[in-house]
Amino acid sequence: MRTVKAWAATSATAPLSATTIERRDVGENDILIEIAYAGVCHSDIHTARSEWGPASYPLVVGHEIAGTVAEVGSGVTGHAVGDRVGVGCLVNSCRECDACRAGKEQYCTQQIGTYAATDRDGSTTQGGYSTHIVVDADFALRIPEGIDLDVAAPLLCAGITTWSPLRRFGIGEGSKVAVVGLGGLGHMGVQLAVALGAEVTVMSQSLKKQEDGLALGASDYRATSDESTFADLRGKFDLIINTVSANLPIHKYLSLLAVEGTVVNVGAPVEPLSVPAFSLIGGGKSLAGSMIGGIPETQEMLDFCAEKGIGSKVEVIPAEKVNEAWDRVVASDVRYRFVIDAATI
Ligand code: NAP
Ligand code: ZN
Ligand code: ZN
Repeated sequence: MRTVKAWAATSATAPLSATTIERRDVGENDILIEIAYAGVCHSDIHTARSEWGPASYPLVVGHEIAGTVAEVGSGVTGHAVGDRVGVGCLVNSCRECDACRAGKEQYCTQQIGTYAATDRDGSTTQGGYSTHIVVDADFALRIPEGIDLDVAAPLLCAGITTWSPLRRFGIGEGSKVAVVGLGGLGHMGVQLAVALGAEVTVMSQSLKKQEDGLALGASDYRATSDESTFADLRGKFDLIINTVSANLPIHKYLSLLAVEGTVVNVGAPVEPLSVPAFSLIGGGKSLAGSMIGGIPETQEMLDFCAEKGIGSKVEVIPAEKVNEAWDRVVASDVRYRFVIDAATI
């Protein structure tokens, strides 16, 4: 065991504070990562504030981890000391089920999350708001040269969560895609869809971030507070990615789909979505969900980002600013991902 520094939630309501946690010894197939940056995902907040159900405390969140390998286990062949690596939302899975064999470890019923999950040794996993982490080497991704570690960190959740549905629904040249919500996930979804060749519309609560959305490559930017948006865009999109962390009137977005189009929900509000049957039947529309992405797909996304020069737009913060950053995320006041400099932890 080694003792490392971290920032933890001690209850659903207390601000995060500095602490130390134990990391396991580096096992045969493990690597020790010296964390350089940890992205702030809205899921960190939902979890630590027990919005998705009671969490157990103290809890260290963070599943957008980028750093360098500091030690490798005797059986590790894929990573060496000094390599630039990332860890996303998963640190293990069963490796034998259909989902695992298809490289969709995120849908393995025995997957182990990077934080707040029960690890194989019975301990609770603790995430990336920390200086070091020990993980199974198979769940560490290679961060290509050419992407700086700070802008790479958010790719491990925000990037892959939008990449996976874009690939699953065959988005490419000529596809018409809308991204709802221009936050951490949304700003990655826009860049990735544009790079795949799609024509992209951002749907945001207001036009405040319009200039940024267009600079990210969107060709249209609409305010959802303006009812004419829903009349103008009716029947237009092949795919709508909903990244909004709050509940939306989903039928209004279904009405914007072309025939047999899909609204894919990646935002994870607690309250149930209400969907009138007729909003799906007419036009043969689908409402789908998607959760992060598998390990091979995450590597594919990282390599694609390196090739296309895509990264997250980040605001690097010292650990002591994390509580302020969380409040700003909740207030939709983030452009577009806070990333904690682990050297300040
Ligand atoms: P974020 O940075 O806070 O972005 C969410 C965006 O949603 C905001 O920037 C805002 O965009 C919009 N929004 C927020 N409140 C709203 C409201 N009341 N009405 C309408 N729009 C609102 O969060 P994130 O980190 O991108 O995460 C987004 C959601 O995805 C969270 O629920 C998170 O837990 C979930 N998530 C899911 C997965 C998955 O695997 N499915 C993975 C990661 C995260 P505008 O200002 O542009 O309107
Ligand atoms: Zn996340
Ligand atoms: Zn499995």
